[in-house]
Amino acid sequence: MRKKIVAGNWKMNNTLQEGLALTFRIIDLLKEKPVPDVKVIVAPPFTSLHPICELINKEGYVHLAAQDCHQEKSGAFTGEVSSDMLFDLGVKYVILGHSERRQYFNETDAQVLAKAEAALDVGLRPIICCGETLEQRNKGKHFAAVKKQLKNSLLKINPAEIAHVIIAYEPVWAIGTGENATPEQAQEMHAFIRSLVKRKFKKEAANTISILYGGSCNSKNAKEIFSQPDIDGGLIGGASLKAEEFVAIVRAV
Ligand code: PEP
Repeated sequence: MRKKIVAGNWKMNNTLQEGLALTFRIIDLLKEKPVPDVKVIVAPPFTSLHPICELINKEGYVHLAAQDCHQEKSGAFTGEVSSDMLFDLGVKYVILGHSERRQYFNETDAQVLAKAEAALDVGLRPIICCGETLEQRNKGKHFAAVKKQLKNSLLKINPAEIAHVIIAYEPVWAIGTGENATPEQAQEMHAFIRSLVKRKFKKEAANTISILYGGSCNSKNAKEIFSQPDIDGGLIGGASLKAEEFVAIVRAV
């Protein structure tokens, strides 16, 4: 049985007070009408992780992710945060290889792999992102692009750890653009990713790994996207910044 997951990537949004208020409201809505079959995750900026973790530990209903981590355990890496530090705070998940990190911070597949290994080493569950650009899709190279990303990251993970990994397929052209992949486009890519996992790891890994869709997902299109057989939930950007909208997406799983 695959776990259904909806994770909210807040990116560089929300002060501490705003983040606490948003988390509180999400928890309230989930308390009113629980969705026990869906794991709900929020990924605030580093600065809010500790207080939001305390709130979550007290109230439940929501789990905590960071938006990145460094691959080294400690050392002279000014401005960076290690997986150890995150785990120590109570963080359980970490988003890795988001297209914004690849685009603005030149993050490579090799770094995504190193970060994922560092996360797994301490017991954090990585959410590994992949996805093609518009140019790659228009040239019909979207499968090759995603395969290349995963070949150099996800597919090099130690097989003993693969059960702790989550994948997010996020076509770059759909992120923050208001133009989501159609359910058919998303399903086709999710099935392809699952087939890569199956080929590399045991069949059981392919059957149990959660693959999330991300890219302009909202309460209106979520149900149709999530109804696809290989789509196990979503990684949500803009729509995760409003509690009602985010929880409506959770309820659409
Ligand atoms: C994201 O950045 O992970 C994302 C999916 O963004 P949005 O939902 O805003 O397209």
